[in-house]
Amino acid sequence: MPVGRQMQFFGARVNLAKTLLYAINGGRDEITGEQVGPAHPPVTGDRLSYDEVAAALDRMMDWVAETYVDALNVIHYMHGKYAYERIEMALHDYPVKRTLACGIAGLSVAADSLSEVPTAVPAAAGPAAGTAGPVTGSVHSWDISTGVDGPGTRFVVFASGCPLRCLYCHNPGTWRMHDGTRTTVDALVARAERYRRFIRIAGGGEPLMQPAFTGELLRRCRETGLHTALDTSGHLGHRASDALLADTDLVLLDVKSWDPAAYRKVTTRDPDPTVRFARRLAELGRPAWVRFVLVPGLTDAEENVDGLAAFAATLPNVEHVDVLPYHRMAEAKYAGLGLPYPLPGTEPPSAELLERVHAQFRAHGVRSR
Ligand code: SF4
Repeated sequence: MPVGRQMQFFGARVNLAKTLLYAINGGRDEITGEQVGPAHPPVTGDRLSYDEVAAALDRMMDWVAETYVDALNVIHYMHGKYAYERIEMALHDYPVKRTLACGIAGLSVAADSLSEVPTAVPAAAGPAAGTAGPVTGSVHSWDISTGVDGPGTRFVVFASGCPLRCLYCHNPGTWRMHDGTRTTVDALVARAERYRRFIRIAGGGEPLMQPAFTGELLRRCRETGLHTALDTSGHLGHRASDALLADTDLVLLDVKSWDPAAYRKVTTRDPDPTVRFARRLAELGRPAWVRFVLVPGLTDAEENVDGLAAFAATLPNVEHVDVLPYHRMAEAKYAGLGLPYPLPGTEPPSAELLERVHAQFRAHGVRSR
């Protein structure tokens, strides 16, 4: 933090264990009975239901986060205005860059308590769409994102489970379905409802590993009038029903490579299912963006790029190709999972290489960016 140019606000830790208590008891102080948090019906019954508790906790955490940040801003504003910081501010540049640090207490208490709440649906086999009970899927995480994952700002759901093992994968934590958290479509839709201005997208892992869950999620989101996008390698495209695709406004089709040998090297699988899926999308007229990760020494051969460009040119539904430069930001994730990084020493593509690849797409009449 450059002295005199930046300052950091920090606050005492927020109490997550108490947040969980408020989620369960309807937001009341246990001793006085006073309504402290937002009023909602307490979770009752002989047995707690995981889905009910998790949904209540989600709502309560939103309130706690908002209240916490508001409180930090008020405290630091008043300190800056009336207390000794006011004098210190005379030693800072104007405007000073302010960052905010927040802390959590009781994380392990809340996590341990939550893990003791029985799940309503066995983790290995949630009911499928159209059957009784909530539709569930294995979810790695969700995020709010801007970037190349679709138009605008998005609510992104990362599904767990993927049949590929791309050498450049930057989400290795999504590979195994049983590593995810069993989550209901209801809970995700309720979460996304709070971000109504966002679209959502079922992103990788591979959402078509769980077609019933993904289909239901897309259907429900579409019902609420939100733009939907499906991010897939197409390898399991045969699992996507026409109905699922009809509920998908945009397909982000990750074509890992055109040359079969390169495709196998990148993913350990064959490209044919992806190619068949791409053609089917074209026949159905589903809008698509093709995404191609450019990795020096792996996917950058001229013939490989030319082949993909020529193929994309035959697909009228493809609006453009996103050329995604390889980066090494996932190295720490591999280390955290105890996995060797598959591409040590590989550098991101140079500006010249990127320009050459864009020019190849342009030469085939394909818009790339
Ligand atoms: S398809 Fe996506 S999630 Fe699966 S291994 Fe490849 S990059 Fe990773």
